[in-house]
Amino acid sequence: MQVGDIAGVGCFTDSCRSCEECKDGDENLCTGPGGMQGTYGSACAEAKQPGGVTQGGYSGDIVVDESYVIKVPENMHVAAAAPLLCAGITCYSPFINHGIKAGQNLGVVGLGGLGHMAVKIGAAMGCNVTVITRDESKRELALSFGAKNVIISTDKVQMDAAAKSLHFIYNSIAFAHDIHPYLDLLKSNGTMIMVGGVPKGSMPAGSFYAKLIVNFSHESDVTSLDPFLFYYCVPHKIPRGILLKTKCRPSPSSRLSSLCPCSLRHRV
Ligand SMILES: [Zn+2]
Repeated sequence: MQVGDIAGVGCFTDSCRSCEECKDGDENLCTGPGGMQGTYGSACAEAKQPGGVTQGGYSGDIVVDESYVIKVPENMHVAAAAPLLCAGITCYSPFINHGIKAGQNLGVVGLGGLGHMAVKIGAAMGCNVTVITRDESKRELALSFGAKNVIISTDKVQMDAAAKSLHFIYNSIAFAHDIHPYLDLLKSNGTMIMVGGVPKGSMPAGSFYAKLIVNFSHESDVTSLDPFLFYYCVPHKIPRGILLKTKCRPSPSSRLSSLCPCSLRHRV
């Protein structure tokens, strides 16, 4: 980082730096004393943040060690960079870790903040993206983000027709839920990545016979953010469609209330 550069801060601002995970470059998985220090609502030294709690984007200023920030590319708007540093990398990281390739069939369950980013990134990677949602009104939106198919999860005919069709599912549902219907959509040896909620109930016996993998993912290490922004998002023009609120420093409560009437569907 040089003086004058724009520093990007992701989901966390520090970690213990000494545990096995930190030494392996997985600071986001820190198991040391205090663990990972989140960007929002995380206890920290008073010297770092007045009040001893990180305030993230609600604060006018933030102090972060240079090891935990990345340089935002000069040709990327800061409003576009912000969601990539959280939701964007939370999609891209498991895609890379699991070797997702162009031409594979990728299912995205849920079209909220994380899900819509997964559709954009998956489509840019050349995957055939299918969105699985309960909400028919999201069909056009999903297709506009780059999805090729939309399945209404409450429609048994549509779900049965798509059985064993997907190589990979990115499950962004944010609460505990039954994953059986979604596992049925995976091909043998398929993988479901869960980034929000956890599975409810037992795993179906069919998961063993099909050698399915259910895995979990949590954000990303700091180092991976740099190539993600510079070498992936900039050339692929991700994301598009940012709505920038220019209201000058509203209070956190007024800022949150402006999001509540569902006028914004994908908050990241
Ligand atoms: Zn650590």
